[in-house]
Amino acid sequence: MKIIEVKNLKKQFGKNVVLDNINLEIKKGEVVSLIGPSGSGKSTILRSIIDLETITSGDILIEGNNLKDKKIKKEMLLKTGMVFQTFNLFPHMSVRNNIVKTLELVKKLDKKEANKIAEETLEVVGLIDKIDNFPSELSGGQKQRVAIARALSLRPDILLFDEPTSALDPTLVGEVLLVMEELAKEGMTMIIVSHEMQFAMRVSDKIAFMDSGEIAFLQTPSELRNNDDPRIRRFINNEILRNDFVI
Ligand code: ADP
Ligand code: MG
Repeated sequence: MKIIEVKNLKKQFGKNVVLDNINLEIKKGEVVSLIGPSGSGKSTILRSIIDLETITSGDILIEGNNLKDKKIKKEMLLKTGMVFQTFNLFPHMSVRNNIVKTLELVKKLDKKEANKIAEETLEVVGLIDKIDNFPSELSGGQKQRVAIARALSLRPDILLFDEPTSALDPTLVGEVLLVMEELAKEGMTMIIVSHEMQFAMRVSDKIAFMDSGEIAFLQTPSELRNNDDPRIRRFINNEILRNDFVI
């Protein structure tokens, strides 16, 4: 089953075309990574899928439903979850309440059920012992794992990650990648923007290499590894030299 379909997506900011002719399909259980130079449009694709950007033309379908259909748009968007580079936790709430309040607000769950789900999802990311701490008492890696738990608590059918480890101290990258890899193994459907090439190569079913607002290549990791296009070689070699984290 196709969870997400992006068809002929075009996005302009004013006269500036930042995405053109983007076509992408993600099936249930697939992991697709978006890689490419800064400014090539990776975040804009994710933001378009969760309706944070108004697209200029084209279509985005979630589980076969076009987001242009206003009647079902809200329900479809609830099937997506997103994890950002900067965590976006509520600083004045405990880890528990970051999840419980979100569930009460978004899913209208009662406190008891919301607490149960908060505990379950914190268990998944290995942070049940931090449930009563505040974000300021956690490391960056732990904050990002809480953000992942919060996204998971909404039971999304697909999780989107926008450079989830880019803001982290290098020593904390591995713990977040491990949680993501575990989710991938358990069959979570994911779109990941990441500069961690070894990780992307290992967990992805397909990798889209973006260049100047277009998907230049959409290939399996092994195809990409053997792709001698100079843009890809230069990009991958630079990323590996710069910050690759092997887990
Ligand atoms: P990436 O995530 O690959 O670094 P982005 O999707 O953030 O790239 O950005 C793609 C292009 O769109 C860039 O040229 C960026 O400057 C431009 N852009 C992104 N957001 C806006 C915005 N809100 N207004 C104008 N231009 C934007
Ligand atoms: Mg980006």
